[in-house]
Amino acid sequence: MHTVCTTDFPCDSCSRLVGNVRITTGLLTGHVALYRRLTIIKIRTDPMFYKCGEEEETSYHLLGRCSAMMMARYSIFGSHLMDTTEL
Ligand SMILES: [Zn+2]
Repeated sequence: MHTVCTTDFPCDSCSRLVGNVRITTGLLTGHVALYRRLTIIKIRTDPMFYKCGEEEETSYHLLGRCSAMMMARYSIFGSHLMDTTEL
């Protein structure tokens, strides 16, 4: 187990941890640079998720519904599909 750095310059492990927390928080709150959000703020023109092309790239689509992410979802959460109550 790694202890958290107390210096002004975090080590690589702590930097990765902070990055993972930032991404997880963004996915759970919807405040992350996914295609739907980037399209809303006019940085992109296509909100569709590139891996499946079935729906807009949103947190809910990636975490709970996308067929292209089904095996990864199953290996992490033990479920192929998840609804909002499970996320
Ligand atoms: Zn998809």
